Amino acid sequence: MTTQTTKTVIPIEDVRGWCGQDVLDPSGEKLGGLAMSYSPRLDLNRRPDVATWERCLQQPTQTDVADPRRRAARRDAPTPRYALSGATGSGRKVSVRGPADVVAAGGWTIAIRMRSCLLFVITVIVFGSAVPTATPATNSERPVRLRVAVSGDLLIHSPVFNRALANGGGHRYDFASMFRHLRPYLRRADLAVCHVETPMTSRPPSGYPLFNTPRALARAIASAGWDVCSTASNHTLDQGQFGVDATIGSLDRAGVAHAGSYRSAAARRRPAILTVQGLRVALLSYTEHTNGLALPAPWSVNLARAERILADARRARRAGAQVVIVNVHAGDEYRHAPSAFQRRLVRRLLRSRTITAVIGQHAHVVQPITEIAGRLVVYGAGNLISNQSAACCPAATQDGLIAILQIEWDSRRGARVRRIRYVPTWVRHPDYAVLPVGDAARLGLADRATLRASYHRTVAVVGRSTRVQPVPSRAP
Ligand SMILES: [Zn+2]
Repeated sequence: MTTQTTKTVIPIEDVRGWCGQDVLDPSGEKLGGLAMSYSPRLDLNRRPDVATWERCLQQPTQTDVADPRRRAARRDAPTPRYALSGATGSGRKVSVRGPADVVAAGGWTIAIRMRSCLLFVITVIVFGSAVPTATPATNSERPVRLRVAVSGDLLIHSPVFNRALANGGGHRYDFASMFRHLRPYLRRADLAVCHVETPMTSRPPSGYPLFNTPRALARAIASAGWDVCSTASNHTLDQGQFGVDATIGSLDRAGVAHAGSYRSAAARRRPAILTVQGLRVALLSYTEHTNGLALPAPWSVNLARAERILADARRARRAGAQVVIVNVHAGDEYRHAPSAFQRRLVRRLLRSRTITAVIGQHAHVVQPITEIAGRLVVYGAGNLISNQSAACCPAATQDGLIAILQIEWDSRRGARVRRIRYVPTWVRHPDYAVLPVGDAARLGLADRATLRASYHRTVAVVGRSTRVQPVPSRAP
């Protein structure tokens, strides 16, 4: 192995030789039991040989990831340079994105670390029905802190995808510039969660009422810095099971994990768990309704029912999750106040310590971030991107937010949300750039009075307290 790895490459063919073997770091400490050594020999841009993954994953050794204190903090990691994904023959999905980061898909967690460009190691931990649950990744006495960024609806109306087509020179869809200004916030977070409201398929794109979004959105999601997306919404079934499958496939190919809609009953039983700073974080996703569309199968999309959510949360805990985040797509459209359904459900969920945090969206406008019996909830993050504005709807449909949950975990008390900071956003027309309001005012990216009005609208609804603060704290 040489030290020259400027071109990132991965020795897929070499993987078999490492299956089931212990991997030691230079100090002799065991990093994992099933690992793949990386060297500068094979081109990472190539899709992985899924048969090789399958063979490798069939013979795992139960183990633990490296001590989180020794793992590079995500914000210090270089920009991910590759994304790989594939489905194994048994239907298990493998999704890898890196370096120095972690992505999970299905019931597998894959931890990736990079050591001075000399060695990449992938540790695969197996849990779920086939193998006993691994021991917790973190046994330190010191608390572990996570910053989890969550945001509102990606609601791709036809003017939005038409603009993406223009951005791509008229022959491809390019959504990336719409999220460019969000990247610093998403990348600084330890974990960034998006909400995919509309199906992404290869069919001709369409807007309301039966959405179909170009699959290129998935690439833009990945390049903006989102790690995982909730997919259960009232539009999930707009293209039927075909749309569910294609959306999942698009996210898999982009290296973005997902939860909320599924290709099979077995897939629904495998919680999406991502290892972040050594903690295992599960994302669960549910929708209040599907606009009257019948579910193609009971497992196609998760409906928001308290008993089901609590059972899924317990399943995620059994699979090793130390943090469980529940996304609920619910509420009354254009209403800032949480609906009776939302309030009842959230109160019920937060009575259980199985669930760490509840986040949501759907109303097209922001809703409060509030405390219920000492526990914080993000009722609704609003539209992150859409064509809605005062031209059709309340002016507040152009507002949104990125909430940054500060989660603390220790071995005695488990995980809790300590504080939430939120970044008010505003969608600029006609290029649909999503602008953090404070940055946009400072950089002159839009009319200052308009940005101030958006900031005041958002903060008046979302609120502020000792535990909830807008960023910036004062109107720009
Ligand atoms: Zn919705």
